[in-house]
Amino acid sequence: MKKWLKELVLGGGCALVVLALLFGWEPSLLILPLSVVTLGAMLTGTRGGFTARLKPAKLGTVADSGVPPVTFSDIGGQDMAKRELLEALTFLKESRRSRQLGIRPLKGVLLVGPPGTGKTLMAKAAANYTASVFLAVSGSQFVQMYAGVGASRVRQLFSQARAQAEREKKSSAIIFIDEIDVLGAKRGTNASHLEYDQTLNELLTQMDGVESGQDVQILVVGATNRMDLLDPALLRPGRFDRIVQVDLPDKAGRLHILGIHAANKPLAEDVSLEQIAAETHGFSGAHLESLLNEAAIAALRAGRGVITQGDLREAVEKVMLGEKSNRLLSAEERERVAYHEVGHAVLSELVRPGSVASITIVSRNRALGFIRQASQDDQYLYTRDQLLQAIQVCLAGAVMEELIFGQRSTGAANDIEQAVDLARRMVFAGLSPLGVVGSDLPAAVLNKTIAGIIREQEERTREILRGRVAEVKEITAHLLREETMGGDEFRLLMAGKQAS
Ligand code: ATP
Repeated sequence: MKKWLKELVLGGGCALVVLALLFGWEPSLLILPLSVVTLGAMLTGTRGGFTARLKPAKLGTVADSGVPPVTFSDIGGQDMAKRELLEALTFLKESRRSRQLGIRPLKGVLLVGPPGTGKTLMAKAAANYTASVFLAVSGSQFVQMYAGVGASRVRQLFSQARAQAEREKKSSAIIFIDEIDVLGAKRGTNASHLEYDQTLNELLTQMDGVESGQDVQILVVGATNRMDLLDPALLRPGRFDRIVQVDLPDKAGRLHILGIHAANKPLAEDVSLEQIAAETHGFSGAHLESLLNEAAIAALRAGRGVITQGDLREAVEKVMLGEKSNRLLSAEERERVAYHEVGHAVLSELVRPGSVASITIVSRNRALGFIRQASQDDQYLYTRDQLLQAIQVCLAGAVMEELIFGQRSTGAANDIEQAVDLARRMVFAGLSPLGVVGSDLPAAVLNKTIAGIIREQEERTREILRGRVAEVKEITAHLLREETMGGDEFRLLMAGKQAS
């Protein structure tokens, strides 16, 4: 790896985690440059590739075709989404009564949310719950260069759903279209728009053709994380008129999902899934499933019959940042990384006791070292003081380097970037000395205000850390020996130093 690249990301993990905690961004967004491979690999398998013909076996059917039936109890968290979807399914479940009451058939349900949150699981559970045939396709399977091909695939899909339901003597079919934004984008916006528009028009026509009283009732379940791209015609009443938000799980949801995926795995007595749930803010269900799988692989590699808390912690880091790298740092660089990370950790612990989940100088992908923070509870609003403290935590690595080595390194560039971003958010939330500002704030004023906030917090951070240098040295010596430290171990060391 080129030297500049290596320098660029020292301590990046810290700032990334701080921001994840503050704004609830998902790790895939924050850590994209660091862990493209891991997240990419996790997402494969959830998306179907193009199949030349829409064959039932390839598209996946529930139960009868051998795909294990998924029920709503296999889906962790998402209580609200499950409730809304169940309500929408009443029509299929009680179609005779609905018809008697003159209720028009529900034709489409749109599941909206980030990748890996369980949208496909929901659609499968819906098929199982309503004893429907299940066909799954991806929007990209309809994208063709030749006009008319996508449209004929849509027709084929609906007729296949009907035929399969008749064959299996079922009264309903659920067609799940993942990445529906690819086929349902606003008309006229695509380069080869004639083909795209014809495909979408065909989908609308097919959905309009779904009438109550038909032998086979078809429900289309679409999934997307870009609802803004969809053509308004898809969202009007009578088409996808039920929109179900499938968000990243909160702490209780994460615990529920961990419990589901841990059910078939032997856990050691020291395991606290609650603690892992607290440390995985921003993880999707797919991340959590992968985490447990990685932990089980680690236990297997170590020749243990049970998964320990250590395996789970290690797996959290692997899922967040990728595989350990075998990059060899010079002794001097290693020491600098250690001081940098301990600087972040000490400040994080001082502003929010109990916040450090782990500190490491084992590099992973592009991060040379990082700290992980635990969120006590999911938080959605932040005060000015909390934002200023988050800026201090970001700056603490660079300030610590300065206090120990007399100067900083380029490794803090990522931290500074995050601190600037936080300061910018403060300005536009009306939390800076400028008070309430409009989006047309002149760039020069914005930059000056951000620089002022950062300078002030830098000074404050320096003051705090200057009084802690002896303690930081002790903790850093320990970290250099051990390479990785859990939050509790770090707190014990900090408490010991503070007491003496
Ligand atoms: P994409 O948008 O990328 O297609 P998705 O939202 O459809 O993703 P799924 O395919 O349903 O996500 O989930 C992928 C895997 O992640 C599931 O097979 C399951 O192992 C796990 N998973 C995701 N969400 C949940 C959840 N809420 N409960 C339990 N497991 C989950």
